[in-house]
Amino acid sequence: MAETVDPALQDPEVYDVLVLGAGMAGLATGHALLEDDLDVLVLEARDRLGGRVHTDRQFAGFPLELGAEFIHGERAATWRWVDRLGLATVHWTKLDDSWVRLADGRRLTMREARAVSPALDVTRTWELPEVPPRPLESFGDYLRRVGFDRERLDYVRRAFANAAGESMRFLDATATLAYLNATDLDGLEDYRIVEGYGAIVEALGVGLDIETRTVVNRVRWGAQGVTVTTDDGREFRGRTAVITLPLGVLQAGDVTFDPPLPAPKRQALAGLGMGPVAKFVYRFAEPLTPDEIQAVYAAGNPPMWWSPSAPHPTTEAVVWSALVSGDGLVELTRVSEEDALERALEAFRREVGRPGLRPLQAKLVDWSADPFARGGYSHVRPGHHGARELLAEPTPPLFWAGEATAPEERAATVHGALLTGERAAVEVRRALERMGARVVGEDDGAATAGAEPVV
Ligand SMILES: Cc1cc2nc3c(=O)[nH]c(=O)nc-3n(C[C@H](O)[C@H](O)[C@H](O)COP(=O)(O)OP(=O)(O)OC[C@H]3O[C@@H](n4cnc5c(N)ncnc54)[C@H](O)[C@@H]3O)c2cc1C
Repeated sequence: MAETVDPALQDPEVYDVLVLGAGMAGLATGHALLEDDLDVLVLEARDRLGGRVHTDRQFAGFPLELGAEFIHGERAATWRWVDRLGLATVHWTKLDDSWVRLADGRRLTMREARAVSPALDVTRTWELPEVPPRPLESFGDYLRRVGFDRERLDYVRRAFANAAGESMRFLDATATLAYLNATDLDGLEDYRIVEGYGAIVEALGVGLDIETRTVVNRVRWGAQGVTVTTDDGREFRGRTAVITLPLGVLQAGDVTFDPPLPAPKRQALAGLGMGPVAKFVYRFAEPLTPDEIQAVYAAGNPPMWWSPSAPHPTTEAVVWSALVSGDGLVELTRVSEEDALERALEAFRREVGRPGLRPLQAKLVDWSADPFARGGYSHVRPGHHGARELLAEPTPPLFWAGEATAPEERAATVHGALLTGERAAVEVRRALERMGARVVGEDDGAATAGAEPVV
């Protein structure tokens, strides 16, 4: 579209790049453009940076993750920042150091449980037959068709779909299988950052021009550039804009595009889903499990518990969190927040065998109720494999980043978001060069989400 410079865009009030959203993707875009001779402004609705990365330092006296918690994979792009900032990490051996409740009611360590029930190995080995998925098939239907019994399905629900952020009937089979086939791309191990993910957010924000408490509600775009309006009536003009807003915010229509986005972009938005995801967090007065047990795969709801304090070298606090998504979360949050916290705790009491257990503090962090997230993370809806690529496609002067635009194997992660931000920076820099802008920084030619970016 906009290949020549409109005289109006020579206006000094016009930024070269407006970046919408200061989560990992938006911050990565801004950071990657720092070396360039470009005017970049980041617009962020919240009064903090990081978006779905939110390290809390109040609740328990140590850095506690209310959003993203783990680095998924020993080769994830996030490690570049961990190394650069000299951050400490702790390896989380969730599959070994955990209790699991079997279908017959027994509670065993995961090691013991795998020996008695091969069903529990299913989310490690996956061993799926060579049966191709059908075009509109959900992952749940696919697993049933290839012969998964009730016990295996139940374990996949607890140990995989819950973490995937949505119930299996809403996950596209083709996309999920593509993910499973590529999971060792970035590695299979999980790590926590001792100082918290917030340390990376802070570092990414250094040197950037960021307007916080700035809620974008309208984007006018065309050959003349981009005009962004906020809910308090301010206007920002850019020659280009990088949209990193969460999928849920875009789908809800909280931001109007004028003219409306082209059909492929709307198809992409319809083909993706933003599952309900929450964390239930409790602080207790004393340890509840032996030191080596840091996670609990529960039979009840919530199905997945872990202790962020267990491996923490700087705290004596005892904190347990549950991650809940999909139908499980909908069921738990039909009642008031206080009752939901109590219902989830009741399930935990049964798992750890402590009927009278009371927390010192409890907190529900429901990302689906957060107006600037509107869900946990994205998934591909049945029949829509390829929607992420469509969403990522540039529509100059608009460019697209954020976890939902990452390839399936990296979507819904911090490192995926980082890489999409860096990919969008390359795209926008090239577009500005074509428009005749002075862009001094290095273009490493890495215009793909998997390429080595500029740290
Ligand atoms: C509970 C939970 C646990 C997770 N656990 C992990 C994990 O362990 N490991 C992992 O790798 N990933 C995890 N994730 C996923 C990870 O957090 C995300 O993939 C990643 O942070 C998304 O970054 P983003 O920049 O794409 O989006 P966001 O972080 O959502 O950034 C978008 C920004 O846009 C802003 N915004 C929204 N609306 C507007 C508006 N109208 N105007 C201006 N700004 C607006 C938002 O406030 C936000 O700052 C988890 C997510 C959740 C919710």
